[in-house]
Amino acid sequence: MEDWYLTTINEISEKLSVNFGKGLSSDQVHEKQAQYGKNEFSRQKKESLIRKILRQFKDVSVLILLLAAILSLLLALRSGHGFIEPAVIISIVIMNVILAITQEGKAEKALEALADMNSPSCIVLRDGKKQQIHTTDVVPGDIVLLEPGVMVPADGRLLESTSLAVDESSLTGESEPAEKDAAAELSGGLPIGDQDNMVFMGCLVTAGRGKAVITATGMETQMGKIAGFLGETQPQKTPLQQRLDRMGKVISVIAILSAIVLFAVGLRQGMEIWNLVLLAVSLAVAAVPETLALIVTLTLANGVSNMVKKNALVRKLPAVETLGSVSVICTDKTGTLTQNKMTVKSLWVPGSPAFCDEEKLSERQMEFLRRLALASNARPETGDDGETVVLGNPTEAAVIRYALTKGMDLAPLEAQYPKAGEIPFSSDRKMMTAILKDPQGGYLILTKGALDRLPFKPQEQELRSEINEKHDSFAAGALRVIALGSRRVEELPPEDAWGELERDLTFEGIIGMIDPPRPEVAAAIETAKRAGIRTVMITGDHASTAAAIAREIGILSDGQKVITGAELAELSDDDLHCSVRDYSVYARVSPEDKIRIVKAWQSRHEIVAMTGDGVNDAPALKAADAGVAMGKAGTEVAKSAADIVLTDDNFATIVEAVHEGRNVYSNIRKTIYFLLVCNLSEVTGMLFAQIAGWGILVTPVMLLLVNVLGDGIPGLHLARETSDPRIMQNDPVDKGASFFAGGLMYVIIQQTIAVSAAMLTAFYLGSFVSIGSGFPPSHGIGQTMAFIVLGWTSFLHILTVRSRSSIFKRAILDNPPMLISVLAMTLVFALFVLIPPVRDLLGLTAIGPYHWLVILGLTLVPTAVAEFEKLLENHTNILAYRNKIVGWTAIWRKPAKETKNEAADICP
Ligand code: ADP
Ligand code: MG
Repeated sequence: MEDWYLTTINEISEKLSVNFGKGLSSDQVHEKQAQYGKNEFSRQKKESLIRKILRQFKDVSVLILLLAAILSLLLALRSGHGFIEPAVIISIVIMNVILAITQEGKAEKALEALADMNSPSCIVLRDGKKQQIHTTDVVPGDIVLLEPGVMVPADGRLLESTSLAVDESSLTGESEPAEKDAAAELSGGLPIGDQDNMVFMGCLVTAGRGKAVITATGMETQMGKIAGFLGETQPQKTPLQQRLDRMGKVISVIAILSAIVLFAVGLRQGMEIWNLVLLAVSLAVAAVPETLALIVTLTLANGVSNMVKKNALVRKLPAVETLGSVSVICTDKTGTLTQNKMTVKSLWVPGSPAFCDEEKLSERQMEFLRRLALASNARPETGDDGETVVLGNPTEAAVIRYALTKGMDLAPLEAQYPKAGEIPFSSDRKMMTAILKDPQGGYLILTKGALDRLPFKPQEQELRSEINEKHDSFAAGALRVIALGSRRVEELPPEDAWGELERDLTFEGIIGMIDPPRPEVAAAIETAKRAGIRTVMITGDHASTAAAIAREIGILSDGQKVITGAELAELSDDDLHCSVRDYSVYARVSPEDKIRIVKAWQSRHEIVAMTGDGVNDAPALKAADAGVAMGKAGTEVAKSAADIVLTDDNFATIVEAVHEGRNVYSNIRKTIYFLLVCNLSEVTGMLFAQIAGWGILVTPVMLLLVNVLGDGIPGLHLARETSDPRIMQNDPVDKGASFFAGGLMYVIIQQTIAVSAAMLTAFYLGSFVSIGSGFPPSHGIGQTMAFIVLGWTSFLHILTVRSRSSIFKRAILDNPPMLISVLAMTLVFALFVLIPPVRDLLGLTAIGPYHWLVILGLTLVPTAVAEFEKLLENHTNILAYRNKIVGWTAIWRKPAKETKNEAADICP
């Protein structure tokens, strides 16, 4: 390895054959990409197919299935009557594994694609042009530009630096940012932490600017060499998946207990022991919803890819769920609620009336505008199409565009006042200072920023009040106001004392610009409100400006208040805990205040989404339940701290993502409703038939056919359910609430009773009642009828679980693949009975047309009950008793949400 920090810049230029002024050419980039590969850590080897298959066998339900297969094989060997049963069971085990692996693969692909999209980007110089590229595409020889908030994409040698500082704690453990200097001349044997002219991959630029030439990428970087960093972290299960796992365990226990009961009862009835063992095992299989975990994974993956389509990149899977329960959205104003396309509307300098619109500017006003332009960094540039565009900070761009329309020529102005330095803008300071060399000697200090932050020299009371009056009238009209102050000094203090320059300013004037709200924002806020979600605005702008816009888009309504950063600082945490609900707008706040706002809402048991873009926003993004970073305006730091990234920086996207999150949750509930009813009915039915002495209700093979084939395949389409139209009209679900909250347990029990009753009736009629001639009642007919009723009710049931409103109301056609698979399965199940060889293979018995009619009638019963129930639900007042039952069945109650009294503990 070469010691790049010892190499001179010229040597590097030669070695890497790169022209530092222009960067690599595209040909060189291709060459180097072929030579060095991607700038990433070599990914862990893909799991092999064998390992994937083996992993499936870690699943309890698969193990139980396998046990069933082995037992039935032993049984077949002993009795010698055919290997059909074990063969069928084994092929079902295989089908289950294939289903799981292919569907998992689909989910994995979706998530992988996401990881690629999430790859951070950086700005490099190639072909003489600045380009934004994915950090994975960086090659040795690339020239990268460094500024605060940028993550260094690979190891590099500095070419230029101005007060550059880099946080290298991830590499060296040193918590203070390291100061970097391109010009540092170093001698050999230095540790990484002392290589001041180098920057390293994964470290964060915290201050200053710089340019570096990349010397090593991917595994060759210092980061790449650190062992342990390489092992990719296993994807974690989301809280929902964890809770499902727990539920799965409860179900397994139920299954085992029922198996024991069945075994005991059968033993007393003198059943053959081997048959009993097999039956008991199959019952356990029947009770376990084999496809549940799979459908949940698919639902999550599907939610993630839907969010991507709506411009929300999910960085952490659990965020999909959290989003569904968000109850407060704290959002930045500029750029998220507004368009960040500012246009100057008015300006004022003392001594003349406020100026608006198209009039000609007086010489004094023109002079003010010139100074304002000099204090701005944004500059016009001619684009490829010959049009002039103004690049840079939107606030400054507005000033420059305005100056251009007033016919100002910037080039001679800049030549006349060459720039000597700058104290940069930050959201904390809310002002910036340009230091210019005055042609008449000395320096001209121009400070622009928030009026209340600029340190003016003492003014006469009259002027002061006139300034305030003008400022307030601008702000009340929703204008963002920038004030300009100036000062002249003979000599400059040393750079680290430049702060002293910002005092005793002479007031020059103010300028007001409009930043119109995004057109879709008002509707999104309204949608959120209806969905029980509170939207809170956070901005560095003046309170009046913020309030005016907040009112316009519906954030600030009567009775709600605006609070400024200064007022916020006066409040204790307890005060804020008590009053946080009163404030809808936080004005003139710094990024540091955001974390207090998040915590205050959380102390009121709210689930908070918080937006952010700057380096200082990272802590608040982490503290929030759902941290949301801006994809365009955001720094890499903000993005890596966030749970989701908005690729369009748009508030409305957050609301869309919440919608999608709720949809995921609701689809998972539907899946549970769907699968549990089927599994529980099987268990109940079999227990009942055994205890009643009717014999075996359905055979193990039949159970497996229903569970894996009959439910599994249509069930997969539940993962792709489009959203219930009413999903954004309810309050958010409590994060800790049980899946069964809101009466789900009640309908599950009710449907279980209905389905098992239908099944048992079918069995009874088939076994003991003569229906139609030519088909004397027999155990075989009873089993066959129970089997078809079980399968068919299940197919109808999936249509029931789709919506709380009637299946007739909800278009059955809005999920065509599901409908197709339901129809196909209905037919397949009928064919099982109708095709003689298949019938024999599966142990079914031929039945007559009247049997089919009975089956059809019984199949409709559970759905009819469900539909009747839905009807009642819309007239709840008729049935108070029903609500009592619903209440009673909600064993897993929501954790009591905060009541007024609870808050009153510490609040007045
Ligand atoms: P927001 O949170 O709405 O993005 P900022 O923190 O960017 O607000 O800006 C806060 C205040 O700082 C503005 O109201 C304005 O007075 C001032 N300001 C914003 N941009 C600049 C700039 N480029 N130069 C000087 N002052 C600025
Ligand atoms: Mg801003």
